[in-house]
Amino acid sequence: MRPVIVVHGGAWAVPDALAEVSVAGVKAATRAGNVTLMRGGGALDAVEVAVRTMEDDPAFDAGHGAVLNTDGEVELDALIMEGRTLATGAVSSVRNIANPVSLARAVMEKTNHVMLSGKGANLFAESIGVPTLPTHALVCEQERKEWEQYKNYDIGVKELFRAQWAHDTVGAVALDSCGNVASATSTGGIRYKMVGRVGDSPVIGSGGYADNRSGAVSCTGHGESILKVTLARLILSHMDRGKAACEAVERSLRYMGERVQGGGGAVAVAPTGDWTACFTTERMAWAAIHGGILHYGLNPREKFKETLK
Ligand code: ASP
Repeated sequence: MRPVIVVHGGAWAVPDALAEVSVAGVKAATRAGNVTLMRGGGALDAVEVAVRTMEDDPAFDAGHGAVLNTDGEVELDALIMEGRTLATGAVSSVRNIANPVSLARAVMEKTNHVMLSGKGANLFAESIGVPTLPTHALVCEQERKEWEQYKNYDIGVKELFRAQWAHDTVGAVALDSCGNVASATSTGGIRYKMVGRVGDSPVIGSGGYADNRSGAVSCTGHGESILKVTLARLILSHMDRGKAACEAVERSLRYMGERVQGGGGAVAVAPTGDWTACFTTERMAWAAIHGGILHYGLNPREKFKETLK
C-alpha cells in the first residue's frame, strides 16, 4: 500500500495577501505528515503532525492565529479519528492550548469519552500536563485588527464565505502502508462567533470521519451548513456506494449548496489510495503527497506538481 496524505488550510475567499503563506503552510504540513508516513508511522500520527504544523503557523485559523469570538477571546475546536477501530477524540471551546488536535488525541487515548468541552477540556489538559498558554498568547496582531474592524460591520456569518474576513480551519487525511486511514481537523471557528458556539469541526461525522472500510474525510466551510448535512459522512456514504473520492466530495458539496446554501470544501482519501481536494468557495489551499509527488493548489481546478527530493 502506497501511503497518501492530503491536507487543507480552509475553504474561503483567501485574500491575495495570504495566498503565498497559505500554500507554503499546507505544503510544509504535508511534508511533515509524509516524513512520519515514510518512517513507518501510522496514518493517525501523520494527520496529527500535519495538523500541529498548521496550528503552529499563524497563517491559519487554528492554534496560533485563531479568530476571535464576540468577546475577543479564542475558543478552539478539534477532532481526530482513526479508521481501524473508529477510535475518536475531540475538544470544543477549549482555551489557551497551542495544539488542540493533540489534546483531542489525548481524549481519545486517555479517557472513556469522545468529546470534552470548554472548562472540562481545559481541566483535562491541566491534569495530563498539557501546558496552558497565557490568555491572548494565541492571538495575532492582524486578527486583533480584523476583529476591531469587524465589530463595525453587520455582516451575516454566511456572507463571510463570500468575503475576505474569515477563517482557515485546517485538516488532514492519510492512508498508511498498513491500509489504515485517519482524519484530523482543527479550528478557531468563525470570526465574531457567539461565545460557546461550536461548529462542525469537532463533531464526528460532520467535520471529519475515518473508517478503513470507506475512507477518511476532513471538512471545512460554513459549520452550521456542514452540521446540517453531516458532510463527512455524506461524502463517505457516496464513496461506500462506489463513487470516486472526487465525485463523492463534489456531489456532497453541491448538495450542501442547494439544500442549505452553504459553501465549503473537503479532503478525502479512499482505502485504495484514491484521493481528492475539492471546494465550492473561492479558494482553498491544499496539498497532497502520493508516490513521491507533491500536489498542491489554491484556485478552482488548479493542480501543480513537484517531485519530492
Ligand atoms: N468549519 C469551521 C467552523 O464553522 C470554519 C471553517 O472551516 O473555516 O467552525
